[in-house]
Amino acid sequence: MPYCDHNATAPLRPSCRDAMLHALAVTGNPSSVHANGRAARALVDEARRSLARLVGAKAEQVIFTSGATEANGLALWGAVEGAIDQSQTDKSARITRLFVSTIEHSSVLKTAQAVADRIAGVRVESLPVTHDGILDTEALRVALREGKGRALVAVMAANNETGVIQPIAEISRLCREAGALFLVDAVTAAGKIAVDAGLCDYLTLSAHKLGGPQGVGALIVGPDAPLAPQMTGGGQQKGLRAGTENLSGIAGFAAAVDTVRTDTGERTRVLAVRDRFETLLKQAMPDAVIFGAGAPRLGSTSNVGVPGLSSENLVIALDLDGVMVSSGSSCSSGKIAPSHVLSAMGVSPERAMGAIRVSFGWNSVPADADAVVASLLKLRQRVRAPAAA
Ligand code: PMP
Repeated sequence: MPYCDHNATAPLRPSCRDAMLHALAVTGNPSSVHANGRAARALVDEARRSLARLVGAKAEQVIFTSGATEANGLALWGAVEGAIDQSQTDKSARITRLFVSTIEHSSVLKTAQAVADRIAGVRVESLPVTHDGILDTEALRVALREGKGRALVAVMAANNETGVIQPIAEISRLCREAGALFLVDAVTAAGKIAVDAGLCDYLTLSAHKLGGPQGVGALIVGPDAPLAPQMTGGGQQKGLRAGTENLSGIAGFAAAVDTVRTDTGERTRVLAVRDRFETLLKQAMPDAVIFGAGAPRLGSTSNVGVPGLSSENLVIALDLDGVMVSSGSSCSSGKIAPSHVLSAMGVSPERAMGAIRVSFGWNSVPADADAVVASLLKLRQRVRAPAAA
C-alpha cells in the first residue's frame, strides 16, 4: 500500500525497532545506581550524544520530552518564565514579545498565544511569509528594531505542509543583532537538511518524523538560554524535565538519528521519488499547482492542488485506492478549513481547499509516485464525466 504521508508520521525503521526491543529488555531505571540502572543510564547518555551529533550540539544540551509538542511548549513557557526569574537581577531580561511566523505548527502558534494570554506583559506578533512561503526577513528586521523589550522569535527550519526551507542562518543573525532569543522547530527538516543548533537558543525535534517511535522528542537548549522547568518531580534531566525517561522511545529515537546521519543515499532516493511524482503529475494534469515550488524545498514533500477537486474528496478517493496522503486543509470540530500555511502564502480559500500533501520518506519507492498520480487521474476523469458513471 503506497504510504505517502511521512510528514504526518514516518513508518518505524527496522533499526529503531531493534534498538527499542533491546532497550525494553533492560530492566532498570536510569536514575538507579545498581548495574541495571547504570545500563539504562548508558542508553540514555548514548542517545543524548547521538542527537547532539545530528545538530552540532553538546550532549548536555539535550532534554528528552514526550514529543515536539511538549518540546515547543517547554521552550516557549520555559523561556518566558526563565527570563522572569532572571529579571530579579536584570530587569531587561524579561521577554515581552513573542514573534511567530504565520506558518508555524499549532504547537507553537497556540502555545505562544497561551503564554501571552496568561503572562502579563507578553504579546504575540505574527511574522509574514512571501507567496513562496519563505519568511519575510525584512519584516522581521523592522519588527525587531521597532518596539521595546526582549523578544523571542520562533521560525521553523522547514514547513511540514509545503517543505519550504526557511533562511535560518539569516534569521539567526538578525536575532543575534537584536539580542532576541530564537526557537527553531526542526521537526520536519531534521534528517533531510543540515540542522545547526548553534544558530538558535532552542531547537525541537520529534522521533516519529524521522522513522523513530511516536511519543518521544527533544529540546536542544542553548548554553545561555533561560529555561524554567515545566515538569517538576524527581529531578531527572538536571531538573529541567522531571519524569523517568522513556527508555525504549529514546533508544528508538537515537537509532533513527544515527540512521539519517549516516545513510546519505536516502535523501537522493527520496528526492528522486518526489521529483518523479511532480513530473508525472504535471504531465497528466498540466493545470495542477505545486505550492511553494518557487522556493527551496525539502526533497520529500509536495503540496499540490488540482483545480476542480476538493482535498477532502481527494484524500478519501485516494484512500479507497489504497494510497495514503494528507489533506492540505485542516479539520477541526467537524469543519474543514483552508490550511493556515497556504492562506499565509496568499493562496485563495478555494484553491487551498483543494490542496493535498504528498510526503515521501525512507521506504518510499518510485511506484508510490506512480500510484498517487494514477489515482488522482482516475478521480479527475470520474469527476469530469459524471454522466458516464
Ligand atoms: N512541529 C511540527 C512541524 C510538526 O509537524 C509536528 C507534528 N505534526 C509537531 C511539531 C509536534 O510533534 P509531536 O507529534 O512529536 O508532538
